[in-house]
Amino acid sequence: MKTHMSLKTIPNRHIFFDNIRKEMTADASLSLMFIDVVRFSDVSASFGYETGDQILTVIANRVERLFGKIGSLGRISGDIFGLVIKGTHTDAQLREFYMHLIEHFKTPIAVQDHSFIADFNVGAITNDRNNRDTHLLFARAESALKQAKENRYENFFTMKFQGKSDSSRSLALKADLKRAFAKDELELYFQPKVELQTLDIVGAECLLRWNHPLDGVLFPGALIEAAESYNMMNEVGYWVLEKAFASFSYFKSKGLDLQISVNISPTQLYDTQFVPKVKEFGDKHNVDLKGIELELTEDVALSNSLMTKRQLSQVRALGISIAVDDFGKGYSNLAYMRDLELDTIKIDKTFVLGLEDKDVNRAIIEATQLIGKAMKSEVTAEGIESLNHLHTLREIGVKTGQGFLFSKALPLDEFYELTQRDLIVGDSLAFRQRSVS
Ligand code: C2E
Ligand code: MG
Ligand code: MG
Repeated sequence: MKTHMSLKTIPNRHIFFDNIRKEMTADASLSLMFIDVVRFSDVSASFGYETGDQILTVIANRVERLFGKIGSLGRISGDIFGLVIKGTHTDAQLREFYMHLIEHFKTPIAVQDHSFIADFNVGAITNDRNNRDTHLLFARAESALKQAKENRYENFFTMKFQGKSDSSRSLALKADLKRAFAKDELELYFQPKVELQTLDIVGAECLLRWNHPLDGVLFPGALIEAAESYNMMNEVGYWVLEKAFASFSYFKSKGLDLQISVNISPTQLYDTQFVPKVKEFGDKHNVDLKGIELELTEDVALSNSLMTKRQLSQVRALGISIAVDDFGKGYSNLAYMRDLELDTIKIDKTFVLGLEDKDVNRAIIEATQLIGKAMKSEVTAEGIESLNHLHTLREIGVKTGQGFLFSKALPLDEFYELTQRDLIVGDSLAFRQRSVS
């Protein structure tokens, strides 16, 4: 068992990776857990990096104490640790490791005058005995962690190791997709869009989820990809659109005046039925189309194609707003922006999430704010995970935004409940400050 005096002696991502790679050439039976300290950036922001590092060191030492006999620890990035455990394990065993961890962190960590309770997101994966590809194992652990972060009921996720390449994974999904439709496995979730000064909920982004019978709640990435390649994107897209319109009416009937944002894939805009369908759904669900916003990625919204330009102007003529999603992430054709009318510019989350790492992120957000002002477009941000992010965006003057600090995407009923109470952001911090007695 090792005791670390600082973070320096903990193997970093590269060393940790290399150790596992060597281990896998001898014996590939092992499990990998990615342990993310929930909302740690708030701690560093409030108490400084030195205190933050001391707390991380204590966390690392506790994990060593708990698992040092059967595994070893590395630091994947700032507040994410990796733990590799010898042998293969069932889902139940992996869950036991997680419970063991959580149990032992219920005791507060005391550093200087403060004490903290740490909470974790954990993604776990048992390697396939025949897989010697360490990159693949890391990628699987990463996606398990992503699922854990967004899980509804607990911050733990494990999945079967799939050694197959991503393309064959999406082929498998294609066959699943028909069934998903037939069995009504798709669900629309809602992530609140918040007015940053007042923390009022002013809208919601509709995000697709798939209640997979074996894999649990799945994120839309692979599903959209499969729908695209299976020529089912329009079907999925219209399903989403109609659900979104129906929920808009539902919220309205409950007295809520919310803007509902819907993601639209490029394929959908190339369908000549798109505008008629929008009208049809609007009439059917009695929707005031001024309350609807369509989100397009910048390659579509800023494209020079006549077809998309025409479709977009017809959509706008109906009263619908157009937003450029993930602004700044892809290839932004700034020259085209001059001639377009855009209602909203949505700054990509990587700039927000990177605010503490590099000054240029803040500069990019400030520049976007300037462009938005000149174009009379609203500027909104995604990926607001910490109080520090919130404060910086307020300083820059960004009016609205969304992110895990407020809430992840929720099923309809839970979202409605959320709108019925005040968002208390400070209190929901995973690190609660307690006085040491
Ligand atoms: P997007 O439109 O940029 O959606 C925002 C994504 O960021 C969502 O991921 C959301 O859960 C995630 N997110 C929100 N707040 C935070 C945060 O604070 N931190 C971090 N790290 N992430 C945050 P999700 O749900 O996995 O969606 C991924 C993408 O899939 C969406 O990106 C969108 O492009 C696409 N998508 C989702 N639903 C639909 C749909 O119904 N139709 C189409 N065409 N695309 C969709
Ligand atoms: Mg979006
Ligand atoms: Mg986005």
